[in-house]
Amino acid sequence: MSRVVVVGSFNVDHVWNCASLPRRGETLSGHYHTGPGGKGFNQAVASARAGVETGFLCALGDDDGGRQARALAEADGIALRVHESLHPTGTAGIYVDEAGHNTIVIGAGANGDLSASWVSRQAQALAGARVLLSQLESPLDSVLEAMRLARAGGTTTMLNPAPANAQCLRELLAAADVLTPNETEFAALLERHTSHRIDSETIASTADAQLHKLCRTLLPRGTVVITLGAAGAFVSHREDLLRGDDTPFYRVAADKVQPVDTTGAGDAFNGALAAAYAQGQGRAFAEHVRFANRYAGLSTEQVGAAQAMPRLAVAG
Ligand code: ATP
Repeated sequence: MSRVVVVGSFNVDHVWNCASLPRRGETLSGHYHTGPGGKGFNQAVASARAGVETGFLCALGDDDGGRQARALAEADGIALRVHESLHPTGTAGIYVDEAGHNTIVIGAGANGDLSASWVSRQAQALAGARVLLSQLESPLDSVLEAMRLARAGGTTTMLNPAPANAQCLRELLAAADVLTPNETEFAALLERHTSHRIDSETIASTADAQLHKLCRTLLPRGTVVITLGAAGAFVSHREDLLRGDDTPFYRVAADKVQPVDTTGAGDAFNGALAAAYAQGQGRAFAEHVRFANRYAGLSTEQVGAAQAMPRLAVAG
């Protein structure tokens, strides 16, 4: 039985490290490597390597990428359920410059075939799960179906509304118990779903009480966790659900690390947060966020996405 179930994408990442990002018409040479990625898979690997039984629902093609996903999931003990697609397994072309900035093109391929009707038949995979974690690299009706199914079974739903340019529908927000945007995603959601605006670059320096108000406007019924890169995370809870000495909003500082590649840091944070929440029910939420920060910080000290997820078990 999986305690965390992730629904989402698997991509084969093709990465070129170049001195600068290619401009229109330009041909550059760079160091090339390939490895597993996709927000869904990265998050599932993070949860599994945090020591929590993890399931992953995804769509794969009948090709080398699909076989790679199955082998990697098995190696990490992830319970895989695959919607077999006639399209090729998802891919991502990623250019990274010397400053660590990147440009990414995704070929959704099989990921685009993860259908709501297939998801609706996966209730068994969700039975007994404490957390359902999803992102927006899969068809939105399928993500919504997974969240509805989870909620109906009493499973906590966590939505990482990434990438920022994906349309995050109001129904998806309404189905989320915990929403985990980064600064760009938070600003985009606020602009789309409320009458408020915030510049993503000013979020980390915005007063906590003001940020809390904005979070409550965006997700009145759930918890919002905004990841702030090296500054850690900001948490906003629905006040009437607080217990004991919980506070409605607070920041949790990141650990001091020596980052070499921050690709997938957000995925590390999400997988680790889901794992900690599933494993440590009854503990203060801030403790889960502290673990997620530590886990994501460590992931930045390794190169790659799924491969960079540390083996760091959450306390039992
Ligand atoms: P990415 O798109 O690179 O995967 P993101 O923009 O979704 O990341 P961030 O907010 O940048 O997410 O980072 C997620 C988490 O990773 C942070 O909340 C923090 O815990 C950790 N983190 C990221 N960068 C650093 C850093 N430089 N130092 C320490 N922790 C970091």
